[in-house]
Amino acid sequence: MALMTGEEYVESIRKLNLNVYMFGKKIACPADHPILRPSLNSVKATYDLAQDPQYEDLMTATSSLTGKKINRFLHIHQSTKDLMDKVKMQRLLGQQTGACFQRCVGMDAFNAVFSTTFETDQKYGSSYHKNFIEYAKYCQENDLTVDGAMTDPKGDRGLAPHAQEDPDLYLRVVERREDGIVVRGAKAHQTGAINSQEMIVMPTVSMKPEDKDYAVAFAVPTDAEGILMIIGRQSCDTRKMEGSELDVGNSEFGGVEALVVFNDVFVPNERIFLNGETEYAGVLVERFAGYHRQSYGGCKAGVGDVLIGAAAVAADCNGCAKASHIKDKLIEMTHLNESLYCCGIACSAEGKPTEAGNYMIDLLLANVCKQNVTRFPYEISRLAEDIAGGIMVTAPSEADFRDPVTGPYVEKYLKGAKDVSVEDRIRILRLIENLCLGTAAVGYRTESLHGAGSPQAQRIMISRQGDLPKKKEMAKKIAKIKD
Ligand code: SF4
Ligand code: FE
Repeated sequence: MALMTGEEYVESIRKLNLNVYMFGKKIACPADHPILRPSLNSVKATYDLAQDPQYEDLMTATSSLTGKKINRFLHIHQSTKDLMDKVKMQRLLGQQTGACFQRCVGMDAFNAVFSTTFETDQKYGSSYHKNFIEYAKYCQENDLTVDGAMTDPKGDRGLAPHAQEDPDLYLRVVERREDGIVVRGAKAHQTGAINSQEMIVMPTVSMKPEDKDYAVAFAVPTDAEGILMIIGRQSCDTRKMEGSELDVGNSEFGGVEALVVFNDVFVPNERIFLNGETEYAGVLVERFAGYHRQSYGGCKAGVGDVLIGAAAVAADCNGCAKASHIKDKLIEMTHLNESLYCCGIACSAEGKPTEAGNYMIDLLLANVCKQNVTRFPYEISRLAEDIAGGIMVTAPSEADFRDPVTGPYVEKYLKGAKDVSVEDRIRILRLIENLCLGTAAVGYRTESLHGAGSPQAQRIMISRQGDLPKKKEMAKKIAKIKD
């Protein structure tokens, strides 16, 4: 099968028998639900852009497994150029959607599982790498969207998986059969799970031998028996039910997360990528997290571009674009945003091949990238809100704007610069509100903090990778200190 069109993708999601709940009700067709549809549109953009000749180089790649043309989101990176193109593609999609387009988690899982299964097989003589290659080919051939599921609920953070009062707080194997395993547990904050046909599940922490049943990685279809998804609420989500495009800010695109519950889900042997080899749980976590920390140097910079643009348009609407402090704030936002991108590109340029042959980013630089992402989007948002003015959170609704009694007052008193319509002024303010405080803020702000690991997770990696002894040696040599 060739690359899917955006429409074919939407149809393929419609055909799934997903078990999705929101507001206490089962959602018959998530693809058609007004709150959920914008998130599907964001993933659809990864298909639409791959069909566009001007983005072909960035959006597609030649499969290292089949030699065929595939969507880059399903690619096993073959060079540092592939790693950089990945970040550029993510920036492009952030610019086009102003939201989380969700498909990166599968790409990051693909590359982490590819190298980890190779090394596990080398040590144990298992056949996980072969399993994964067959699975990857299947996903590439069918141009699927794959969710990458890592984060367990984790219960008491002071206790290891096996020591939890409720043993299901980390996903685990509850039964081993001749033909496969049965798993139980949950994965939290699952970006794009409802918009994926497939899901790769991985462990969430490094593990000791006592956690054997928890050191498990595998793939399942998202509509496998026993899977249930509960949609996470987003700020202002029900505005999408009101029928006002204006009030939503970004009516076409969005992101979505879900709590995915695995109620004794069967996984056949050929879809298992790790099963009890505890020392490789940590390797898989570190690699997936590393790739996803690289990813943020692309997607957040792309969404940042939209927010910087929106702040500049708001300044035009307010009639203050020429003020020197506004210009300086836009420069500062740009400086911060490009710093994120620099890190995404740098950790890619410094990538190296793994034993399995695919390319891995530089872990230290990827963690520095994500650590900056935990900070800079907050400052960029603060500056955008500063430029927008308080009206971005106090502007009346579209209904009031259109009402014959209140409308003329909104029109009169919300007037800004002479040549800008009040409607356009409200439009751009609502977009800023959406990015900083509304549904997209999940992906741009709080996800910048906690997605791909909370700040402390990067600091641990930075301390491990920073090689302080080597730096001390450098200093001692120059200071002529002899041991
Ligand atoms: Fe992709 Fe960014 Fe969303 Fe992660 S947060 S899935 S990298 S768009
Ligand atoms: Fe994320």
